[in-house]
Amino acid sequence: MTDTAFSSLKLHTDLLKNLSSLGYEKMTAIQMQSLPPILAGKDVIAQSKTGSGKTAAFGLGLLQKLEVKHFYVQSLILCPTRELADQVAKEIRKLARTIHNIKVLTLCGGMPFGPQIGSLEHGAHIIVGTPGRIEEHLRKATLKLNHLTTLVLDEADRMLDMGFQSALDAIIEQTPQQRQTLLFSATFPAQIKSIATKIMLEPVMVQVTSSHDESIIKQHFYKVNDEKQRLTALHLLLLQHNPQSTVVFCNTKREAQQIADHLSDLGFSTLALHGDLEQRDRDQTLVRFANKSISVLIATDVAARGLDIDAINLVINYHIARDTEVHIHRIGRTGRAGSKGIACSLYSDKEHYKVALLGDYLNRIIESETLPTLKLLDQPPGKPLMATLLIDGGKKQKLRPGDILGALTGKNGITGKQVGKIHIFDNHAYVAVKQSVIKPALKKLTEGKLKGRSFRVRIIRA
Ligand code: AMP
Repeated sequence: MTDTAFSSLKLHTDLLKNLSSLGYEKMTAIQMQSLPPILAGKDVIAQSKTGSGKTAAFGLGLLQKLEVKHFYVQSLILCPTRELADQVAKEIRKLARTIHNIKVLTLCGGMPFGPQIGSLEHGAHIIVGTPGRIEEHLRKATLKLNHLTTLVLDEADRMLDMGFQSALDAIIEQTPQQRQTLLFSATFPAQIKSIATKIMLEPVMVQVTSSHDESIIKQHFYKVNDEKQRLTALHLLLLQHNPQSTVVFCNTKREAQQIADHLSDLGFSTLALHGDLEQRDRDQTLVRFANKSISVLIATDVAARGLDIDAINLVINYHIARDTEVHIHRIGRTGRAGSKGIACSLYSDKEHYKVALLGDYLNRIIESETLPTLKLLDQPPGKPLMATLLIDGGKKQKLRPGDILGALTGKNGITGKQVGKIHIFDNHAYVAVKQSVIKPALKKLTEGKLKGRSFRVRIIRA
């Protein structure tokens, strides 16, 4: 039997102890396969996705060989988006919390440049960032990578999808030849293979077969005759399942926006997530979806990749994905963290061959099911449980979740159970509360004080 205990690896005792205090009892599949070659200093290409435990796989690798006494950049992790970079940095800080004095810095686009220079001047061991901004720092010589020992490309396929190829080339050129390169990617298009050949030395391939257990994610397929029926089918499936959190995958930004507009007109609580959104709107959309104030997120593959939300009940493929790996990746957004999920895929005659390919992969014959009865269309869409309040203050004003919770639940306030997720950004914060108490919650926050002062608060309307 393969040993799944972290203690079977030659990790520093500090790291091991911390893993057990974090409650990481067993290695995940990707960790089991990739950690031995990573710790042996080899270049590794790993097929993995968010939720597989990939961050700890490369994170432990780089922490194991980090020399804290040397205050220069030893590891660089490149991520496609700021959200992913933030998640990765958070996970690495967690893994490193027993190592004294370690400095992990995020450098992402969309954030002011000046403070990043200041932080770099103070020195850092590990940098997590997006390619465009890292390239800019290199060009301005505010970042130096001449002591780099580990380079990680996280969600490499997505970085390429987002047009970061030339930034990646420029960055890699400035790293020492003698380095360990780890490449994590959900899919392996030809472009990734060619990058790997160029920048890696005899890489070890690690692939965890994504066996989406059909008892966890129940898949349904529906054939539609034309685009009009496709839209009706989506409407019917949403009414039939009526879940709190659904992601609908579209092939293009335009389609995502059009569908979101259409569903909104029908009374659904929905927003589109695609690459044309400004960072602040993107953050707000994700927050409102994660805190259950928005029930249906209409997303393109590119925009949804970094998304890490546990409780998605339903995934709908408005068009069946262009290839099997993308399909598996999409539906893997549901049925996570021990809960069951449903995935519904719509396809036309022209898309039938993709369904056949998927059937080969899943080793089963896929047949179209009958759509729910049109009578359902008389039913109004379900409403979300929660609503979001936007507070005009954040980390910079030293606001913490406890302050907001305290203000809401204080004297004559609402109960703790009526408060949902709280997300704090630099200069603003969001708090979700039950729809039924939105007015008293607003009143309480507006009239009360947070950190001794008044903030502007408003309800974000759907
Ligand atoms: P990732 O795929 O890196 O985004 O990780 C998904 C989540 O799994 C993160 O919240 C980690 O904290 C958690 N995690 C990673 N490795 C383990 C493990 N071996 N046991 C339990 N949880 C883990």
